[in-house]
Amino acid sequence: MIDEKKRKQPGIIPLRGKGRVAVRGKIPAGVMTAPQMAAVARIAEEFGDGTVGLTTRLNVEIPGVDRRDAGAVAERLREAGIEAGSTGAALRSVVACKGTVCRHGCCDTQGLARAIEERYGGCSLPWKLKIAVTGCANNCGKVQLNDIGIMGRRLPAFGAGECNGCGACEKVCREGAVRVVDGEARHAEENCVGCGDCIAVCPMGAIGVAAKGVRLFLGGRSGRVLRAGVEADGLVGEDEALEVVGRLLDCFRENGLPGERFGEMMERVGRDAVFAAAGLRPR
Ligand code: SF4
Ligand code: SF4
Ligand code: SF4
Repeated sequence: MIDEKKRKQPGIIPLRGKGRVAVRGKIPAGVMTAPQMAAVARIAEEFGDGTVGLTTRLNVEIPGVDRRDAGAVAERLREAGIEAGSTGAALRSVVACKGTVCRHGCCDTQGLARAIEERYGGCSLPWKLKIAVTGCANNCGKVQLNDIGIMGRRLPAFGAGECNGCGACEKVCREGAVRVVDGEARHAEENCVGCGDCIAVCPMGAIGVAAKGVRLFLGGRSGRVLRAGVEADGLVGEDEALEVVGRLLDCFRENGLPGERFGEMMERVGRDAVFAAAGLRPR
């Protein structure tokens, strides 16, 4: 069932104590400015119990607020540039790993998460929908456990320059997808996860970039039901990923039943049909 009360007042979460709520503030890509942090601390002292919680979706929650003050807290958060939300039947806060600044990052995770938030953030849907963006195969964002998972990939192109057989690529590759044989690097594509680490360490510039983009995983979830998302074939450019997400949200809006998760809709409507609606196909 869709909780209409939460839909009307996004970001308000009832707590155990009678009349007490927590107010959830959305933090795009989990990055706040220092003045925003100071503002949240002041609001927590003024309206809450003086503590601030951090959620698994990188949001802040101010607990111990009198239900009657929830609107005022949401307004004070808004003044600090933070929207109350990420509750109810809507697109929840988009999670991003720190791939934008991480040395392993193969895509601008925070930029993509912010772009998704700006275009689709909080939009109404048949039920909650979670998106996570992770920058590489290390998968700090655990993207397969989200309704839509997005993972950065950088595929190497061996032979782009002269190889001196130094073995740096073989050493860095944790998948054993590259071996130096007779003084030359040989790549086993079937074992490669597209982390791009070999490209970064090659002192000769002998490894180019064959393809760069993101891979999508659809229909995952965690919680009472655990389900890994189904991987899509091929890579999608970061700009195109924004459009693909829009098509997937449209598909969910058009086909999802109230209270149904995206993965359940996929099973009912058919996996291939849902992938096709977004211009994708399962791997
Ligand atoms: S998933 Fe990769 S890019 Fe993101 S934080 Fe982890 S190691 Fe860095
Ligand atoms: S991209 Fe990563 S997995 Fe693939 S060969 Fe290079 S280091 Fe190994
Ligand atoms: S790191 Fe570059 S130069 Fe060294 S073996 Fe690998 S491809 Fe050749």
